[in-house]
Amino acid sequence: MIYLIILFVMAACVVQLPVFKEYAKGGRVRHFLKTLNSDENYIVLHDLILATPNGKMTHIDHLVLSIYGVFVIETNNYKGRIGGEEKKKYWTQSLFGREKKFYSPIFQTYIHIHTLEQLIGCKPYVSIITFRPRVTIDQIHVTQDWLYITHDKQILKIIKQYKERLISQDELIRMENVILKNLVIDKNAINKKNLVEHSEKSVFAKARSCPKCGGKLVVGKGRYNAVSSCSNFPACRFVDKSG
Ligand SMILES: [Zn+2]
Repeated sequence: MIYLIILFVMAACVVQLPVFKEYAKGGRVRHFLKTLNSDENYIVLHDLILATPNGKMTHIDHLVLSIYGVFVIETNNYKGRIGGEEKKKYWTQSLFGREKKFYSPIFQTYIHIHTLEQLIGCKPYVSIITFRPRVTIDQIHVTQDWLYITHDKQILKIIKQYKERLISQDELIRMENVILKNLVIDKNAINKKNLVEHSEKSVFAKARSCPKCGGKLVVGKGRYNAVSSCSNFPACRFVDKSG
């Protein structure tokens, strides 16, 4: 009996480990992308809310800026079986004999790239749409070679496939600065109506999380105005000076 209790306590401790928590919270992709952080040729950002060219807002799950290209990653938490077509606005999820329609991740990715283009310009964009393990993805034929629909564990493999240097180190830093400067993090400005994709994602909470590490943003006083900084300081040094 006592062994059982010890085992139970040990299991509970493991679940408490940050790595496990991050993993369980659906941060699988974040976890996979972590290995890129130590490579200066990659800059990884998460949960970005940006204004689209037509005045709406869009949420980008993960963005990898690299000298090899700009990888726009859209993660989906749907279960069951996924079906869709490249040019169809809605795809279907089948689960327990029921079908549910959802906005095409490809259309979503077009909006993301269009939005990024207006900010950082025309770049070699690569779009990766991922689903969780055990999801059955029907054969979805795509005509673009920069577009991937796959399981999330394939992400690094796809990114690492790109080896040709197309963007300079300086340009990488410039792109990061432009994006971070243009983030929408004012909670009042973000309402569901303004979001392009009306999915069930908790975009509201994400708007106040650090784009570098996912930590909480805390508002403090700067020299002239309110400043949001990451609660994981000093491990993460993200600061948003616009409030
Ligand atoms: Zn941070």
